Amino acid sequence: MIFLLFGFRTRDKVASRRWMVCEACGVHAPQTVVKRSTKFTLFFIPLFPVKPGTYYMQCDNCGTLRRVDRRAVTSLAA
Ligand SMILES: [Zn+2]
Repeated sequence: MIFLLFGFRTRDKVASRRWMVCEACGVHAPQTVVKRSTKFTLFFIPLFPVKPGTYYMQCDNCGTLRRVDRRAVTSLAA
């Protein structure tokens, strides 16, 4: 008998980091953009993403985490 071990794995990856004024604390501090993606796994091996990645921006000063739009991320990288 063969058992299929499948599931999902969510990972965070740093997409970029730049100095900006934080909307929460108002301090000019590094803002880290993190891409969070969820992948389907088979036998603990990630195979393919199950949904588009979502982007979050975290302030390194106050730790506030807020969701950002993908288009905003591309404009930040330019
Ligand atoms: Zn802040």
